[in-house]
Amino acid sequence: MSLVNINFVYVISAALFIFGLKMLSSPATARRGNLLSALGMLLAIVVTLLASGLSYGWIFLGMAIGTGIGLFAALKVEMTEMPEMVALFNGFGGISSLLLAWGEYHQKPEMSVFIAIVAFLSAFIGGVTFTGSMVAFGKLSGKISQKAVVFKGQHLINAAILIVAVGAAALFSLNPASGWGYIFFMLIVLVALGFGVTSTLPIGGADMPVVISLLNSYSGLAACAAGFVISNNILIVAGALVGASGMILTNIMCKAMNRSLANVLFSGFGSTVQAEGGDGPQGEIRPATAEDVYYILEAADSVAFVPGYGLAVAQAQHVTRELGDLLEANGTEVLYAIHPVAGRMPGHMNVLLAEANVPYDQLVEMDEINPRMDSVDVCVVIGANDVVNPAAIDDESSPIYGMPIIETFNAKTVIVLKRSMNPGFAGIQNALFFRPNTRMYFGDAKASIQALVAEFKGGD
Ligand code: NDP
Repeated sequence: MSLVNINFVYVISAALFIFGLKMLSSPATARRGNLLSALGMLLAIVVTLLASGLSYGWIFLGMAIGTGIGLFAALKVEMTEMPEMVALFNGFGGISSLLLAWGEYHQKPEMSVFIAIVAFLSAFIGGVTFTGSMVAFGKLSGKISQKAVVFKGQHLINAAILIVAVGAAALFSLNPASGWGYIFFMLIVLVALGFGVTSTLPIGGADMPVVISLLNSYSGLAACAAGFVISNNILIVAGALVGASGMILTNIMCKAMNRSLANVLFSGFGSTVQAEGGDGPQGEIRPATAEDVYYILEAADSVAFVPGYGLAVAQAQHVTRELGDLLEANGTEVLYAIHPVAGRMPGHMNVLLAEANVPYDQLVEMDEINPRMDSVDVCVVIGANDVVNPAAIDDESSPIYGMPIIETFNAKTVIVLKRSMNPGFAGIQNALFFRPNTRMYFGDAKASIQALVAEFKGGD
C-alpha cells in the first residue's frame, strides 16, 4: 500500500479517535464512543500491517500472545480492580515506546539531532511510565506498602537523577552514532527506570488514581515521541491525544479534590487515616433502623442517592437500583447525584451504576443537583463521606476546605449509610453526621439496602 493511501486511512483513524473521545464525555454515548475509537485503532493497525518489509511471523506471534493475555485479563478483572489494570496497561505502553526508540536507534544509530532528542524523550518518558506504573500497580493491589515512602533528601535525589538524565540526553544527541552515544543511551534508560520508582514510591496508595491518570498521559507522550522516531503519523496523533486527555483528566481530578498536582505528588496525603472518629466535629448522632428509614423513604416525593467509595466496597449498586425501582413504583422521583471524585477512580460511580443499568436520565452531576437540593425530600448517602463533608465549605482549617461537595445538608432529610463513625479518605470527621436533619443508618451498605428492599416488598 502506498504511503499516501496509508496516511489517508490514518486521517480517518484519527477522526474516529477524536469523535470517540468526544462521545466518552456522556454515559449515554460512552459505549459507542469506545467502539468508534476501537474501530479507528483497528483500521490503523490493519493499514500499518500493509506497509512493506515487515516480518509477519514475529508480529502475529506477538499479537496472538498479547490478545490472549489481554482478553483473559479483561474478562477476569473485577470492576474494583480496574485502576490496577489501567496501571499495568499504561506501563506496557511506556515500555513499548522505550523499546521502539531503542530498536530504532540500534538499527540506525546515525540519527539527526532532532530524532536523537525524540528518541531520548520516548525512552525516558517510556521508562519512567513503565516502572512508575508497576509501583502504582503494586501499591493499589497491596503487593507493596501503600504508605508514602518518604526519606530525607528525597527531592534532592530526584532532582539529581533528572540532571543526570538531561546531561546524558545532551551528550547522546550530539553524537548518537559513537560508542559513547550508546553508553549515554543506556544510562538514560537506567535513569528513567530508576526515576519511575523513586518518583512514585513517595506517593500514598490512596492518591494512586491521580498518579495513574498522570502516567497514562506520560504513556501517550512517550508514544507521541516514538511516532516521531519512526515517522509514523498515527502514533504521533494517538500519543498526543492520550497525552492531552490524560493531562486534562489529571487536572480535573486535582481540581475536584481542591489540591494542586504538586500536593498530590509530593505530600504523601491520604497515606494515613486517623483513629476512629478522628479530630473535628463531635456531637449527638441520630441512629435509625431499617424500619425508620423505610417510613421516611416511603413518604418521600423525591429521593437523591449519593453514592461514594463505600458503595463500591459493599458492591451495593444492584440492590441500590432495585430500591430505586421500588421507590419509583411508589411514585417517588429518584435521582443519583454523582460527585466527580467519589470513589477511588475517575468515573467510579458511573461505572458501577452503569453495571446495574441505572437509567442515564436519573444521573445528575453535582453542579446540577446542588442548586435544587432544598427541594429534595431525602438524600440517601451510600458509603460517601468526604464528598458530602460540609467542612469543605465552612471550615477553613480543614484539609478539604475549598473542595466542591454535594450539598446534601440542604435536603430536608439526610440518611447516611456507613458501617461506623470512621472517617473516609481524607481522614477527617464529618459534621454532616451531627446535623439535626441527618439520620445515621449503620451497617454494610449492601445489607442495609437489602433490608430496606425487604421492608418495601413486605409493605406491599
Ligand atoms: P470516602 O473515602 O470519603 O468515604 C467512604 C466511606 O465509605 C467511609 O467513610 C466508610 O465508612 C464507608 N464505607 C466503606 N465500606 C463500606 C461498606 N461496606 N458499607 C457502607 N459504607 C462503607 O469516599 P467518598 O467517595 O466520599 O470520597 C472519595 C475520596 O477519595 C475523596 O476524598 C477523593 O478526593 C478521594 N480520591 C478519589 C479519587 C477518584 O478518582 N475518585 C482518586 C483519589 C482520591 P465506614 O468505614 O464507617 O463504613
